Amino acid sequence: MSHAVVLGGSLAGLCATAALAPHFDRVTLVERDGYPDEPLWRRGVPQSRHTHNLMAAGHRALDRLFPGVLRELRALGMVQVRMPQDMRLLMAGGWVDRFPGNHVVLSGSRDVLDWAVRRELLKLPGVEVRQQTEAVGLLESRGGTAVGGVLLKDRDGSAWAGWGEPYEWEADFVVDATGRGSQAPDWLRSLGRDAPAESVVDARCAYATCVLAPPPGHTADWKCLLIQATPEVPRSGIINPIENGRWMVSVSGMGGERPALTHRAFLDFAKGLRSTELYEAVRDAEPLGEVYGSGRTENRRRHFERVKDWPDGFLVIGDAAGAFNPAYGQGISVAALGALELRQALGRARVRDTGRLPEGFAQAMRKRIAHWVNAAWMLSGNADMAYEGATEGPLPLPARLGMRYTSRLLDVATHDPLVANALFDMTHLMAPPQAVLRPRVLNAVLRGPRQPASGTSSHGNSSHGREYA
Ligand SMILES: Cc1cc2nc3c(=O)[nH]c(=O)nc-3n(C[C@H](O)[C@H](O)[C@H](O)COP(=O)(O)OP(=O)(O)OC[C@H]3O[C@@H](n4cnc5c(N)ncnc54)[C@H](O)[C@@H]3O)c2cc1C
Repeated sequence: MSHAVVLGGSLAGLCATAALAPHFDRVTLVERDGYPDEPLWRRGVPQSRHTHNLMAAGHRALDRLFPGVLRELRALGMVQVRMPQDMRLLMAGGWVDRFPGNHVVLSGSRDVLDWAVRRELLKLPGVEVRQQTEAVGLLESRGGTAVGGVLLKDRDGSAWAGWGEPYEWEADFVVDATGRGSQAPDWLRSLGRDAPAESVVDARCAYATCVLAPPPGHTADWKCLLIQATPEVPRSGIINPIENGRWMVSVSGMGGERPALTHRAFLDFAKGLRSTELYEAVRDAEPLGEVYGSGRTENRRRHFERVKDWPDGFLVIGDAAGAFNPAYGQGISVAALGALELRQALGRARVRDTGRLPEGFAQAMRKRIAHWVNAAWMLSGNADMAYEGATEGPLPLPARLGMRYTSRLLDVATHDPLVANALFDMTHLMAPPQAVLRPRVLNAVLRGPRQPASGTSSHGNSSHGREYA
């Protein structure tokens, strides 16, 4: 019986399990938390209190892994936002014209998203979910050339207070999807192997989020309002429509600015965005809960694809391999696209027919995972380099040239649908980052904006929050 294990049961782990299920006799999904029966917050995914947008390529990949899940998510109240016609968007270059476009963002609360996807996963044959179980290490097999399982610990059922003794759980393939806090580098070291090099770009972005009821009688010609930060005014804010006609509103500060976590401070912070439109929309909205903060937002990639003595039978995906500043909304899409590619590669390798993985499968696969991490990094990592102190030392010349090109691209995209579409292709992971260098786009960018940008004046209210948890 072929058997695969996935560690971590948030979205990357759920997607990986769906990718493996058609190709293995059994798949065990190991999750440290107990899942709530309803769409509720849980400790292992603290970020679910914050705005989550699903980019176009990401929700298409999700729907291929879990056929019909998009319909289900819409039925549960998640909202489709077409860019840019349904979105009032202030980029660095100004307000973007609202032309009809094909890039759809799926907007809703993260708890509903995870809950719906989990329900779909449990319908798949051969999947076993081990909740309240923690992965603590890897096992070797094939004379030390491959990973042959994991070390697990169960939550001590009698006391619900601690963890039992570690035990071995054998598998032909192990996927680590335990998120930013992944122990994979330590686990590799304890097998006598190299840990991966890391790249970090940290624009010190801090989020504050609150769910609100729109003010009575509110009308607007947008479903979503997004005001992006610039290095000059390092604050952004977004109003996202979520289930039951509510708004999830996030404001964030970059470069060390931290919104304080009270309603009053939240509004004050919103007043200091590059436009007061978001503040004006939310000032009379009714808060439906507390203001929550999140500060673990650095772009961090672990270069597993460069590790020389990689053990077969082991793969790392999701935030554990590459995590991004959430302001760019890419983590779930990268996880879903990587998982979809894994499913396709397993099909080509005819794992179901042969009952085994071809030698070197994991080595090759980690490069494909790195490809998607890189595609997102080209946006988030590169954009965040513009913030002081985000990287160590002076910026290399290619990064400085890239920033100058991007700055002009953002100016031109405000009034030029061709350029805006190329930009959205990149940000929605619909096309490789080179899409913004296609000849017609390049020409338009080099020619420069045809009209002056609108609405780029800054309102430099610099009131800092009073506290941050
Ligand atoms: C504030 C914020 C806003 C965001 N907004 C967006 C957005 O708009 N769009 C978007 O695409 N992405 C967004 N992201 C990123 C997104 O949340 C992640 O990319 C997404 O959750 C996928 O991550 P993951 O599954 O790899 O890891 P995580 O979501 O971190 O989940 C890791 C899972 O592993 C479990 N686990 C951890 N250790 C162990 C262990 N040892 N054994 C067993 N289980 C373990 C945890 O309990 C958890 O379930 C945002 C992130 C933040 C912080």
